[in-house]
Amino acid sequence: MPRRLPLQRYKEGVLGGDRTILARAITLIESHLPSDGELAARLLDDLLPHTGQSLRVGITGVPGAGKSTFIDTLGMHLIRDRGENVAVLSVDPSSPISGGSILGDKTRMERLSAEERAFIRPSPSQGHLGGVARRTRETILLCEAAGYRNILVETVGVGQSETAARSMTDFFLLLMLAGAGDELQGMKRGIIEMLDGMAINKADGDNKAKAERARIEYSSALHLFPASPDGWTPQVLTCSALSGEGIPEIWEMVLAHRDLLAGNGFLAQRRRSQALQWMDELTMLGIEELFRRHPAVAGRLPIVREEVRRGRMSAFAASRELLGLFHFGTEHTKL
Ligand code: GDP
Repeated sequence: MPRRLPLQRYKEGVLGGDRTILARAITLIESHLPSDGELAARLLDDLLPHTGQSLRVGITGVPGAGKSTFIDTLGMHLIRDRGENVAVLSVDPSSPISGGSILGDKTRMERLSAEERAFIRPSPSQGHLGGVARRTRETILLCEAAGYRNILVETVGVGQSETAARSMTDFFLLLMLAGAGDELQGMKRGIIEMLDGMAINKADGDNKAKAERARIEYSSALHLFPASPDGWTPQVLTCSALSGEGIPEIWEMVLAHRDLLAGNGFLAQRRRSQALQWMDELTMLGIEELFRRHPAVAGRLPIVREEVRRGRMSAFAASRELLGLFHFGTEHTKL
């Protein structure tokens, strides 16, 4: 098969729910080749009228909190008990330290990956967060056009990736462990303010009572935050991703949130402001790309970098010089 298909093939395949074509369309939008970028943009434009119909849920938590087990169990609940379908995507920027993926390559979501009505797409293996987030957003749209009505976006609760996941979902859930330190679990003020719900996982066996105590503690902690204008009060529930106990209740919470916000107009508002944020991000990414591809900048960049590295030029002077080259070049091109 050719590496790239004609636009129409992608379009018909995705709209027809063909999983192979959907996967190839995602590969197309993940590509760094400028010619692929153009085709991807046209495909997204054509598919846009068929998007927006899903419930988009962001799920975050530190490594080991049980995210993959939780998504596996929740996905099975959606498919088996509710007769629905589900797509699972992840925002997983490569670790800046190890260079490897944080979510890891271990076999994740074993039951779900064998299901016909589940589509699981691992995170793009490389790239900085802005690029990964862009591709995840576009993948959401492709999955919606392919008919997926529930989209779970998984992210590791470290760094900036949860802000990215929050900015592309309707409901943002933090998975916690009873007894692990708050700092460890990313209970920073910034994250708490983004939450729509919290689930204390591994509420089973000896851990059950501890999880219940944690639930009460976190509930009262959440009540200290000012009420959100959308009228929703974030809830704290317990669950066992392993046994499945509490999972249907968590989905009921997500649905109650959706019903409330769809009714009072805040869901549409949330998506509109996400679209604006997305536009800003895309514009900045585009400028960055133009900058790097600018001939004068590209010629001078390695030299200036080396000068700064050796301490022969200040970072400030170097950046001013590059921006000067870029600015002049851009003006010039316009004329
Ligand atoms: P992730 O790193 O957040 O994706 O976490 P995993 O889903 O890989 O889970 C980490 C470990 O916790 C695995 O050994 C799971 O079997 C275990 N685990 C996940 N959920 C539960 C649960 O509800 N109860 C118990 N007892 N163990 C769990």
